[in-house]
Amino acid sequence: MTAAPARKAPFAKLVLASRNKGKIDELTELLAPYGVELTSALALDLPEVPETTNTFDGNAAQKAEAVAQLTGLPALADDSGLCVDALGGAPGVDSAYYGPPAKLVAALQGNPNRGAHFICVLALKVPGQPVRFFHGRVDGAISPECRGTGGHGFDPAFVPAGHMATFAEMPAVQKNALSHRGRALQLLLSQMFG
Ligand code: IMP
Repeated sequence: MTAAPARKAPFAKLVLASRNKGKIDELTELLAPYGVELTSALALDLPEVPETTNTFDGNAAQKAEAVAQLTGLPALADDSGLCVDALGGAPGVDSAYYGPPAKLVAALQGNPNRGAHFICVLALKVPGQPVRFFHGRVDGAISPECRGTGGHGFDPAFVPAGHMATFAEMPAVQKNALSHRGRALQLLLSQMFG
């Protein structure tokens, strides 16, 4: 269970600068106790923001700045991805375009080098202030087969270090406590609301 916030949010409304339902659901659950009115680029049907940089920071900043500009509201963007050791860190920033988790499992079939990590960069743009960044990472391994029905994206193929279950087999609250996104958001919360 998430602890009650120590102090009130520095803004009343926040736009989640994403059209990815999996990310929006996770961020909404993590931010629920903080009394901020949330909406999203998906709910507002804002146009997709082109990601033209080759870094998580650059892409997250682009999305947060574009959505803050379009709405006039504070905007929080997530740029994230899975970096696989045996693939030289791919798909990384290009994770959204890689394909389903089964493709990744097939690419690593028989390969003893299973290491991988998720990265999440949260970029917060409050109009009139510079963008602030919060980073999260979780290490783990690529499962020999896809397992589980929860979560989104590569969750059925990723087993966090120290666990047997994939992210897709865990309850959302357990994934959020371990995940790259959960960790980046905890940093944001401790600095903005702590
Ligand atoms: P982005 O929208 O360019 O940040 O792409 C993020 C992509 O990384 C997603 O489409 C997923 O493929 C992958 N990804 C990021 N975070 C997660 C996660 O928590 N679980 C599973 N896949 C994720």
